[in-house]
Amino acid sequence: MFDITAITATPLYNLHTHTQFCDGHAPMNQFVDAAIELGFTTLGFSPHSPINTESTCNMTTESVAEYLNEIQRLRSLSGPRLRILAGMEIDFTGEQGPADGYFRRLPLDYRIGSIHFIPSLTEPDTLVDIDGKFENFEKKMARYFDGDIEWVVRTYFARAVEMLSRGGFDIVGHCDKIALNAGLYRAGIESEPWFTTLVNDLLDAALDYGYIIEINTKAYERHHRFFPDERYFARLRRQQARLVVNSDAHDPNLLNASRQIALDLLA
Ligand SMILES: [Zn+2]
Ligand SMILES: [Zn+2]
Repeated sequence: MFDITAITATPLYNLHTHTQFCDGHAPMNQFVDAAIELGFTTLGFSPHSPINTESTCNMTTESVAEYLNEIQRLRSLSGPRLRILAGMEIDFTGEQGPADGYFRRLPLDYRIGSIHFIPSLTEPDTLVDIDGKFENFEKKMARYFDGDIEWVVRTYFARAVEMLSRGGFDIVGHCDKIALNAGLYRAGIESEPWFTTLVNDLLDAALDYGYIIEINTKAYERHHRFFPDERYFARLRRQQARLVVNSDAHDPNLLNASRQIALDLLA
């Protein structure tokens, strides 16, 4: 069912889509309509996985069956016009992640592995969402991380490397996403050599393990950057990485947002 080469043979797909089952702003059927309007051949849904910590962004375990039923219903409605894939963006938190039996047993077409949470420096038992808006991130830096941005960045990438080694997923989601908030916290941080080394080491590991690497376009419109950053595109091309360009859409109007810009840069 999941043949990445066939899917990415044309630009007419998106595999990172959030809906009513997590923090998306519209029901799944509206994304299907948008995909058909765009002439897409493939639409993959990727709700944020159930997680053992308080989160308003993640789906509940109870809603997983409902999500999978909705996939079946939409497949029968849209017919052969659109290939609808059941995916999930699974959080790796250290204690929980895509390698867990629970996630491996779900009848999904593919899995994205992502980091949105890291442990607090000052309260190690507390998981902190470091992915959201900068105004929240800035407050969390003081409250949970003693203002130590380098610790946050190093912990993020260490977690990501650990996630790759444990497996259980197909696509590495927005692999350097911490760069956005870290760069707003300390301008220029992602050009510092230790930072680029962390990203390059993570990409090396992803390539060695044979993962598909996501180019995530969600922040392009507002922040003019991709995840991973454009500076890594040349090496990914040179190394013939298996890439997938995803919008990480939370709104049907943004299903194809900035994807063509990334595809052109990668061509
Ligand atoms: Zn994500
Ligand atoms: Zn996402």
